[in-house]
Amino acid sequence: MMTTQTRVKIRKCVSRRRQARGKTTYPFMILGAGCAGLSLAWNLLEMGVQEPILVVDRRERFENDRTWCFWDVEPTPFSDLATHSWSRWMVHDGRRETIATCREFPYLRVRSEDFYARVLSRLAAAPNVTMALGQPILHISESAREVKVTTTAGEFAGLHAFQSSGRLPGVADAGSTYVPTSLLQHFFGRTIRVDHPTFDPNCPSLMDFRASQADGPHFSYVLPLSTTEALVENTYLFPAEVSAARHRLEIADYLKRRYAIHPGRYEVLEEESGAIPMSTNRVPLVAGSSKITPIGLAGGAARPSSGYAFLRIQRQARYLAERIALGETPGPDLMSDVLGSPKYQFFDSIFLRTLADRPDLAPRIFASMFDRAKAASVIRFLGEKSTPFDDLRIVNALPKLPFMMAAIRSVGEWIRLKIGI
Ligand SMILES: Cc1cc2nc3c(=O)[nH]c(=O)nc-3n(C[C@H](O)[C@H](O)[C@H](O)COP(=O)(O)OP(=O)(O)OC[C@H]3O[C@@H](n4cnc5c(N)ncnc54)[C@H](O)[C@@H]3O)c2cc1C
Repeated sequence: MMTTQTRVKIRKCVSRRRQARGKTTYPFMILGAGCAGLSLAWNLLEMGVQEPILVVDRRERFENDRTWCFWDVEPTPFSDLATHSWSRWMVHDGRRETIATCREFPYLRVRSEDFYARVLSRLAAAPNVTMALGQPILHISESAREVKVTTTAGEFAGLHAFQSSGRLPGVADAGSTYVPTSLLQHFFGRTIRVDHPTFDPNCPSLMDFRASQADGPHFSYVLPLSTTEALVENTYLFPAEVSAARHRLEIADYLKRRYAIHPGRYEVLEEESGAIPMSTNRVPLVAGSSKITPIGLAGGAARPSSGYAFLRIQRQARYLAERIALGETPGPDLMSDVLGSPKYQFFDSIFLRTLADRPDLAPRIFASMFDRAKAASVIRFLGEKSTPFDDLRIVNALPKLPFMMAAIRSVGEWIRLKIGI
């Protein structure tokens, strides 16, 4: 039987031959075969799109490079891949522990390896999909007729491109109004195994602020996979430089303090790291472009106040595929409504402004939300499905004065922007 890897290799060769002949103009080019690119490809097939689709990525292999967790507030094509589901979680503000329980919306964990395998095997079986893997994209340009993508192996042309592969030289830089975000969630995680029961497998720690806050909000995240295995992450919310070595030391220190696990007494199974911009600024990667649609993190899919992106990427992919199947022309404008209604943009901008002005309050802010509001309200709010009652509960749970100050500053900035002073 042909494996996914083999099929992918064959398509890669086919695509190289086509490139050499320089014949195909793809109606749809997906640049970046990560979460967003593959989710879009999946949804396009799901919607019955039969025109040729090209998927380009620099990577050759798809490994378990991350795990995605999200609250199960709506169905996705990948939720059934979840290896774990938790209805209880812990937040610690440095002085006090809060345990929240919510059976209605469990917290799911999907391994990226399982997601990649599912999508790649479907793409391999689709006659209209061409995979161009192992091809770093060097340049993208757009003309009135088409988008051209130059990779290390050659050139592709398409009518539309969906770009999740980050900022690139070429049209992406021209007149871009990208503004660096003030908050950046950056983290490093280690999946470890110990030889005796240590972790409570029923209760992940979403945010444990029992750590030095000297370099801005800093917390640990623990996903217990069993009593002896857990993913332990060290996270900062400000863009301080933190080396992998320092992250490892801080994880070791946390393990010692919280679980009395000493260095050398655990096995490291996997490591992962990432940096997620937290910003209400819609990151216009490709200013002025009409044929290149940014998707995924590059398309502002991370929820500004939390950094969670998986669910929003699924919404974005479904929305785009539905519009395309309905015959609409893709382009950045098509994306304007899909992420974050004005209500959540407003809440998020005030939330981020408060964190930026008063980083010392971060532990209290996050913990009091889980401590003082009903868990289901918090989850609906995080999942952008909150009712006005939920919103009131959240507002009521948060410290009032700093949020009011931030709201006044945000409104002032908005007015200054509008009248141009
Ligand atoms: C370690 C980690 C854990 C995360 N955990 C969660 C979580 O639990 N829950 C959640 O909601 N979100 C999480 N996120 C955030 C978000 O869901 C992921 O980052 C998600 O993978 C973003 O999807 P994406 O398609 O935008 O980017 P990616 O999945 O990173 O895909 C981008 C693709 O572009 C390719 N690429 C980049 N540059 C080039 C180039 N020049 N040429 C060719 N190809 C290129 C890359 O190889 C990659 O395949 C996590 C992020 C990380 C990094």
